[in-house]
This record gives sequence, C-alpha cells and structure tokens, in this order.
Amino acid sequence: MIQLYQPLNFMGMVYREIKQAIIDIEKMFNVLSRKAEIQDIPGALPLIVTSGNVRFDNVYFAYEPDRPILKGLSFEVPAGKTFAIVGPSGAGKSTISRLLFRLYDVSSGRILIDGQDIRNVAQNSLRASIGMVPQDTVLFNDTIRYNIRYGRWDATDAEVEEAAGLAQIDGLIQMSPKGYETQVGERGLKLSGGEKQRVAIARTILKAPSILVLDEATSALDSHTEREIQDALERVSRNRTSLVIAHRLSTIVTADEIIVLDQGRIAERGTHVQLLASGGLYASMWNRQREAQEAREKLARIADEN
Ligand code: ATP
Repeated sequence: MIQLYQPLNFMGMVYREIKQAIIDIEKMFNVLSRKAEIQDIPGALPLIVTSGNVRFDNVYFAYEPDRPILKGLSFEVPAGKTFAIVGPSGAGKSTISRLLFRLYDVSSGRILIDGQDIRNVAQNSLRASIGMVPQDTVLFNDTIRYNIRYGRWDATDAEVEEAAGLAQIDGLIQMSPKGYETQVGERGLKLSGGEKQRVAIARTILKAPSILVLDEATSALDSHTEREIQDALERVSRNRTSLVIAHRLSTIVTADEIIVLDQGRIAERGTHVQLLASGGLYASMWNRQREAQEAREKLARIADEN
C-alpha cells in the first residue's frame, strides 16, 4: 500500500505545482494583455519626475460605453503627500489606480504627473516611476529572496534583506530553517494575505518609486497585523507621493487629504477630523467600521476566555 501511496502522493504534489504555475502565468498574461491595448504615441519621451505631483483633471472613464464609472473627477496630490480614496464598494476607487498606471486610457480629461499628460510619455518610464502595492500580490513558486528581489532584479542580497526588515517580514523569514532560501507556495512557506502584502511592500522599497499606490486588501485584519502593515507603509510612503485606496478607515486617519468617492463622483473631501466633524458619509462609514471592530474584538475576548 505504501509503495502505491508514495508515487500517488508525489504525482499530487506535481499536479498542485503545475496548477499553481498555470495560475501565476494566467495572472501575468492578464496584466500583459491589458498592457498591449495601450500604445505609446510615436516618439514618446520618458516621464521626467521632478517632484512627484499627481493631478486628475476632469477625468471621465467607462469600461463599457454605456456604463460610466468616473464622472468628472478632479483632484491633486501634492508631491510627497499622502492622499486617500475611500467609498462604497464599486464606487471606482481601484479604477483610479488602474488609470494612473495607464492600464486603460481616460475617456476624457487628463492625468498629469509633474505637468506631463501620462498619454504622452513612454509607458515603461511611467510604470518604473510608480510603485504599486496591489490588493492581491502574486507570489512565485520560488524562494522568498526571489519573490522580494522581483522589485528590482539587480538588488544585492543585503538590500533584499534590508527591504524585508523595513517591511516587517524578516522575523517570519528568519524563523524558517532555510531563511531567505525558503520556498514560497504550496510546498513551502504559506503566507497569509497580510504577509503577502508585506512582501509587496518590500518589493516596492527595493523599487524606490517616486509615486506609491497602495490598493488595500478588503479583508479585515486583526489589530496586531494591521499595526505591522501600517508601520511598514509609513516607512515606504515617507517623502513619497502616496495614493492609498483604503477599505479600513483606521489606516488613513493621518492622510493629508481624504476623498470620499460615491458613484464615480467626489461626495466629500477633507482630513479625517474635518470629515468626522461634518457628519456625512465618511462619519457614518467610520462609525460602522468602529462598531464592527469592537464586535470582532469582543468575540475574540469571549473565545479566549473559553
Ligand atoms: P471595491 O471597494 O469593491 O474594490 P472599487 O470602488 O475599487 O470597489 P472598482 O474596482 O474601481 O471599484 O470598480 C468600479 C466599477 O467598475 C464596478 O462596478 C466594477 O464592476 C466595474 N469594473 C471594474 N473592472 C471592470 C472591467 N474590467 N470591465 C468592466 N467593468 C469593470
């Protein structure tokens, strides 16, 4: 029986690896095929980032012609500041990050970085200037070192380890017997959503972009994990223009400006304190999230006591 079990078990492992590789390739193709729709204009010059000012000027956008998603959006993120976008699911928040990365072109209006319309610059220079921490980070079936170095292939081992430290993921890596040579994925280190996001933060630290876009994962995190991610983000966003698409309002209380997006339009804007005082959509979202967090903590306490 054991003789039969071992090869079957081995074949199962091989099958899972192949399946994971196919999923990784599909994800890559999704990104690559989207890129192919957008063409550089003839003779496009590289983007020159002088200070990192980002401006959306009366931006309209629709994925499908008869369903507008963004309806005349204007805002400016001054160089080095942190700007947060919040709002109900489907409001168009992630669409803003996709447009800034030029995965799609605006239907009308303009997106400017340091005064340059992003449609007129070479795409590779645009994407090199923006660090994207996405909702779901794709990890490769390779070592954790390889997965972090993906941020900048010529980074030295010491730089990879320093980035892991800043992203607060080094403790976890050092606990594995093979350290940075530990395999990630099915047969190796399985990372939680929060840990994967910290790998993405480490990659971004290596890339050292002028502009940072963080698309926060929707899932609720325990307050300890949230604190760790928050600390890592504060380090990476310091002195960088940062656009944070936030689902948990607790992560953006210190943002320089917050916009509340509702059905493709700005419903409210201001700092956390101003928005709470005005008692509108933001204040009701804040109260709902606080109540939900309190209920989660109460349940966790009850579970601990029993
Ligand atoms: P969430 O908080 O749930 O992440 P969001 O505010 O980030 O939502 P978007 O992802 O920007 O919302 O999507 C805005 C709208 O655009 C949604 O109604 C969504 O269904 C639609 N949408 C998103 N991507 C596409 C696409 N590729 N093709 C067609 N419609 C899309």
